[in-house]
Amino acid sequence: MKILPTKKFHTIVLGSGAAGLAAAVRLRAEGVEDVAILTEGVRFGTSVNAGSDKQTYYKLGLCGREADSPRDLALTYLKGGSADPLVALTEAAGSTRAFFHLVNLGVPFPHNRFGEYVGYKTDHDPLRRATSCGPYTSREMCRALLRRAKTDGIPIFENRSAVKLTTYAATDDSRRLCGLIAVNTTEDGLEPYCCENLVFAVGGPGGLYEASVFPASQYGAIGLALEIGAAAASLPESQFGLASVTDISARKVEIDPICDRPSSFRWNVSGTYMQVLPRFVSTESDGKSDAREFLRDYINSLGAINSLVFLKGYQWPFDSRKLPRGSSLIDMAVFYETAVLGRRVFLDYRTDPADFSFGELEPEAREYLRKSGALLKTPLARPAKMNPGAVALYRDHGIDLAAEPLEIALCAQHNNGGLKGTVWYESENIPHLFPVGEVNGSHGVTRPGGSALNAGQVGAQRAAQRIARRYGGWSLDETAAEKALKEDAVQLMGYLARLTGRIGYDWRQERASFQRQMTRSAGHLRRKESVEEAFRITAERRRAERSLLSSDAEIPVVGISSAEAAEIFRNRQLLVAQEAYLSALNAAFDAGSRGSALVLDPQGETIHSKFPDSWRIKPENPMYREQILITRLSEENDAFQSRWRPLPDFPETDEWFENVWRDFRDGAVFD
Ligand SMILES: Cc1cc2nc3c(=O)[nH]c(=O)nc-3n(C[C@H](O)[C@H](O)[C@H](O)COP(=O)(O)OP(=O)(O)OC[C@H]3O[C@@H](n4cnc5c(N)ncnc54)[C@H](O)[C@@H]3O)c2cc1C
Repeated sequence: MKILPTKKFHTIVLGSGAAGLAAAVRLRAEGVEDVAILTEGVRFGTSVNAGSDKQTYYKLGLCGREADSPRDLALTYLKGGSADPLVALTEAAGSTRAFFHLVNLGVPFPHNRFGEYVGYKTDHDPLRRATSCGPYTSREMCRALLRRAKTDGIPIFENRSAVKLTTYAATDDSRRLCGLIAVNTTEDGLEPYCCENLVFAVGGPGGLYEASVFPASQYGAIGLALEIGAAAASLPESQFGLASVTDISARKVEIDPICDRPSSFRWNVSGTYMQVLPRFVSTESDGKSDAREFLRDYINSLGAINSLVFLKGYQWPFDSRKLPRGSSLIDMAVFYETAVLGRRVFLDYRTDPADFSFGELEPEAREYLRKSGALLKTPLARPAKMNPGAVALYRDHGIDLAAEPLEIALCAQHNNGGLKGTVWYESENIPHLFPVGEVNGSHGVTRPGGSALNAGQVGAQRAAQRIARRYGGWSLDETAAEKALKEDAVQLMGYLARLTGRIGYDWRQERASFQRQMTRSAGHLRRKESVEEAFRITAERRRAERSLLSSDAEIPVVGISSAEAAEIFRNRQLLVAQEAYLSALNAAFDAGSRGSALVLDPQGETIHSKFPDSWRIKPENPMYREQILITRLSEENDAFQSRWRPLPDFPETDEWFENVWRDFRDGAVFD
């Protein structure tokens, strides 16, 4: 490993998911010529590797008789609470432009004979604003955007893993971004990059949890921005839900060349996968012995079990409000069997549950199956009528639902929180850093399904506009930038040498231990003592790690490949992120149970007699919906601090055309 020469681009886009690719394409369209994409690889990340039975894109309503407006869409975004109204209006206002950009690039969103983009209702959606091009909507988006980026001749540097963001002091009390350091695994070195602007499109924090439905190649890199003090919002608001986790590493699978070869097939078992009413079975840890239809231990009538399973289809994320009697009891039972009893849980589509009868279902479920022509004999026969692609999708990944049951677990899927941006998707406190896509925490406690993809496209457009109009030239102090990049590169080399010189150091074990701790303490079930303890351990670990950075002596790094170095640095940023998330979780207890998180409280309501008595629900304190939780690393004491901040009012905008036109001509709108 060596330090490679510094490269320089006006604007770097870090990450090549749907958000990063859109940002690069939009920057070019706005006239920013010197743009480059750096990425671990175009086959990596969530957008190209994840989806669901019908992956949703959420946008302004464009069909039927339901009137819609950006304002109404923004109010839907704000319904769950703790989302910034200014950003919500921006995301709503930009939705049509972002959607038709994709349509024009050839993303096959369906329309009718008259060109109406007919939609359907998704979760937390009062209108039919959702659309989809099938299980792989985000992959289709990436395919079209990548085609465009290549046609535009935008350079894409793969095999680059960013391991540090670099800043220098621009004034006495503020730092500005001036570049980053990446591990370049092609040239086996640490490579500094100097830039005027960084579009940070590194996706969600997929590497934080052990139980995860993020694709195996998606670790995220939010820790890099948190480390330089970028403010974050709503970190505790993650989504958890049931997902398949079958190990397919030894199976023969022909994969789409645009995506990664997964070791386990992680996929949300939402929609059709639940609505066809599979048999829920748990076994001992060998996956065979003592197979039991365990839901009967938690819910006493088979009709009630299957009605709740049916509801899980469109109530996919774990929702603290759907307890103790609603569909989230299914998630809790799966979690109890796996995490507490150490058993394994499977969905079996080959036979109906014992004594199954359509007559015992709630009318809503029975009617749905009847209308779909799916009152058929086995769970597997039903999707053949309702959604044949759902079975084919598993077959394409080497899993034959007719021959084997599907292993599932309750997994982390999405973080509604992330870095706090302005209405131009610029970090609110680090100028020239533009977090877009899932790493931008623009959503609040809940979000309509599909709004993550809209947010990434709107963010990309907005960041490109702001860069073109405000940061189109060079403003950085080159000497200061070069000095800062050199210092960071040398420190990282020293870190690597000191860490790998330790006897018994194993980054794999370290990572597994962080992830296990997060799933135990910071999953959907949160106990104050456990979060506090995890926070204390993590903060101590990070401080110990940080001391390895602080020497300026150059020590040669030998006997370690750059691919391994990238993994070691990844642990560094995951540790920073873990501390920030735990700090935020600690501060969020007063808000009580909300979204996908259940806060436990000895005074709270019990969930079920089968669960430990300590599993009692602390109710939500709705006062916190009017506030947003901001987390930042304090420079003074090198500790994360999380504080609630009141939300601004919903913006009253000037709707007088001549005034807006003047401000647009003058460029005042880009402030
Ligand atoms: C199973 C599942 C189902 C989903 N379903 C929906 C849905 O129906 N609707 C919806 O709106 N959303 C859905 N989501 C969420 C949505 O898919 C993601 O939020 C979105 O795709 C994220 O896009 P992105 O561009 O921000 O990040 P990603 O697509 O994750 O891309 C991140 C990129 O950054 C790169 N990168 C990361 N770290 C580094 C680094 N240090 N150096 C260099 N490169 C780096 C990665 O390799 C990758 O190229 C789903 C997510 C999952 C997991």
